[in-house]
Amino acid sequence: MSDDKLRNLIEAANRIVIFTGAGISTESGIPDFRSPGGIWDQFKPVYFQDFMDSAEMRRETWRRKIETDKTIKKAEPNRGHRAVEKLVREGKVAAVITQNIDGLHQASGVPEEKVIELHGNSTYASCLDCGERHEMEEILTPFERDETLPKCKNCGSPYVKTATISFGQQMPEDAMRSAEIETLACDLMIAIGSSLVVYPAAGFPVMAKRNGAKYAILNRDETEHDGYADLVINDEIGYVLGNAVNVN
Ligand code: ZN
Repeated sequence: MSDDKLRNLIEAANRIVIFTGAGISTESGIPDFRSPGGIWDQFKPVYFQDFMDSAEMRRETWRRKIETDKTIKKAEPNRGHRAVEKLVREGKVAAVITQNIDGLHQASGVPEEKVIELHGNSTYASCLDCGERHEMEEILTPFERDETLPKCKNCGSPYVKTATISFGQQMPEDAMRSAEIETLACDLMIAIGSSLVVYPAAGFPVMAKRNGAKYAILNRDETEHDGYADLVINDEIGYVLGNAVNVN
């Protein structure tokens, strides 16, 4: 059984890093935004520079935020998230590096400081000038009333943006640095629910493997890294991981 092989790798490891992509959250009902039929098929993405240059594009991003929130806000952690949380709680997993912006690892109980979000977080907003955090409600309530654009409550900047990384926006330096440190310290990297095609994020599992760690991949479909890994399981994530870790 493939979940036995995964279980053996987990048991033999001392310090695991888990790398997650959209596939772990599709089992919670969140669509993979980049896949066919995903949201980027319906809307052209707003590039970071357009957000900065145009108040109309900023309005457009808030309109879309309201649309995508209808799905994200309803979603709850699933068996895969719970299995990851158990491994973190038991001290097996040192960090969860995620490409997801849905906050479901934190919602499942993984402490904030153990989650490294490479593409940011869609559940709050931050000021691009001073970094001040803004809760979504403070922004969306006036926006839904008459499309009033937010201004930073700390510095007055008009550049308050959902705390996600947009197309064309620089990767978050702190998260990239933490991900590298954790990657180089692990002896097992498990990539879950990622097709491993989006770089620089997908570079972390490669970095771990080159550094001597074991590398396991769990994804419903084949990935770009399959030929490179020590173990590849193409199956449902919650099912396999839940069995491997004894989580219902
Ligand atoms: Zn500010």
